[in-house]
Amino acid sequence: MSALVLLTPDAPDGRIADPEAPQLLVTDLGVVRGDGIFETLLAVGGRPLQLEAHLDRLASSAEALDLTLPDGAHWRAAIETGLAEFARRHGDGEAMIRLVGTRGVDAAGPPTCWVYLQPVPAGNRELRDRGLDVVLLDRGYSSEAASVAPWLLLGSKTTSYAVNMAALRYAHRQGADDAVFVSSDGRVLEGPTSTVLIARTRDGVRELVTPLLRSGILAGTTQGALFATAEPAGWQLGYGPLTPEDLIGNDGVWLASSVRLLAPIRSVDGRQIPVSAELTDELTELLLTATRR
Ligand code: PLP
Repeated sequence: MSALVLLTPDAPDGRIADPEAPQLLVTDLGVVRGDGIFETLLAVGGRPLQLEAHLDRLASSAEALDLTLPDGAHWRAAIETGLAEFARRHGDGEAMIRLVGTRGVDAAGPPTCWVYLQPVPAGNRELRDRGLDVVLLDRGYSSEAASVAPWLLLGSKTTSYAVNMAALRYAHRQGADDAVFVSSDGRVLEGPTSTVLIARTRDGVRELVTPLLRSGILAGTTQGALFATAEPAGWQLGYGPLTPEDLIGNDGVWLASSVRLLAPIRSVDGRQIPVSAELTDELTELLLTATRR
């Protein structure tokens, strides 16, 4: 139920490979050390959404890791090949596309790069409709960590996601659906796989607010796309700093990400917060307008 395209030195635009067969060497540094980067994006009707934003972020993650990866033209070609193969196998339903680039088996040699496409995991729509119960989890770093310790790679999308997955498992063990990281100095950061978005009304003006980028969070392509269309639609835009209290007393809070889109939060550490289906629909429509461009 998937498709795979490998980008190799002799096939820089990618060649189709068998997603069910072993493809990686056990010495690949991406596996051994989590030394690599990735992007996850959605394709609808055979068209990848926000492709350029994802390729830009892939390039900035690569730069942060001193990784030399194929340029955008090769990734675009490989994605196109992958989408055609995915459509041949599954029709043109929604696809989740993962771009991965690792340091390869030898830091001096070529990176290992691939494009993997699979159907969108089930359950996203139910969570979007029902709303998420989240727990706040201390990330253990201050909101200054990204600038004083750039080697932590806090704003990069590295394949070292074991911490993010552990946070999700921890949240699930508490009976929650997801988590929101908080810095050691009490700032709201992001979800393990999502950006936090708040809607509030001040003096009759509707505002969309997201945490400060320089607090060590990933620059979300979903948040970026939504902000681009929300402003001309009359929303005022704001960038943190936000504290946990800001999650409670406002018009709505969402976790935004490329595949799940906007999932409203309905409780934070067991405290109920307002969920407005109308606001979710309005913002999702603005987001989809942006991604259709
Ligand atoms: N923050 C983190 C840590 C993420 O892993 C993700 C997506 O996976 C996001 C934010 C949201 O980014 P995007 O909207 O580009 O999917």
